[in-house]
Amino acid sequence: MKRNEIECGVCGQSVPVAELGNHMAFEHPEIVLAEVKRDKDETKPFLRIVVPSFAVWLVAFLLLLALPGAPPLAMSIPGMLLVLLGIVAVGYRYALRVTVSDVENVRLRCRVCDAFVPEPAYFAHYREAHPRYARHVVLARAITWGSTVVIFLVDLIVFFVTSRLSGWDVLAVTTISTYSGLYVWLGVVSLWWFGVEPSYLARVRSEWRTSQDSLKRP
Ligand SMILES: [Zn+2]
Ligand SMILES: [Zn+2]
Repeated sequence: MKRNEIECGVCGQSVPVAELGNHMAFEHPEIVLAEVKRDKDETKPFLRIVVPSFAVWLVAFLLLLALPGAPPLAMSIPGMLLVLLGIVAVGYRYALRVTVSDVENVRLRCRVCDAFVPEPAYFAHYREAHPRYARHVVLARAITWGSTVVIFLVDLIVFFVTSRLSGWDVLAVTTISTYSGLYVWLGVVSLWWFGVEPSYLARVRSEWRTSQDSLKRP
């Protein structure tokens, strides 16, 4: 295997990296087809979960706006957005689960070594072949979502503290703290995922290549 060539995960043939897409399309059309079919199959169960949940969510949201004695909007809007995000995430997971039975043929490309891995074994591949990267991804996700909980808790504390102090406009302070928290979170998260993360992945990939090259040398 020369430099810039990778092993096809299906037939083991060495293929120039740039040619891999063509190679898959011409040599293994059934796998490409299975992938297309998988994408189609996932849409239906996804909508089956998301559409009714979204209707319930919308009614709850309108009730929240209309009811007297509702919590301040500044508190309820981020909370409701989080719930909406949760609905989409759960719908996606459900769709993946119910379609998993007929996806044996689907292979996903490993982000580190470019190998094509059967979908059910995709995460196991990261854990086995790139354990450090797998841990990094889990940690990065945990921090991303865990920090929203921290923002929410800080917001609650701000709310309770200001409501106990006299002469403070609770609604104004809570609104400011909610939105500044959200914007800071969005800023940090997008900086992370679009700035730090790609360069980290590039480093992991080049480290992996170096380790493979040194393995091959006699
Ligand atoms: Zn092949
Ligand atoms: Zn890999």
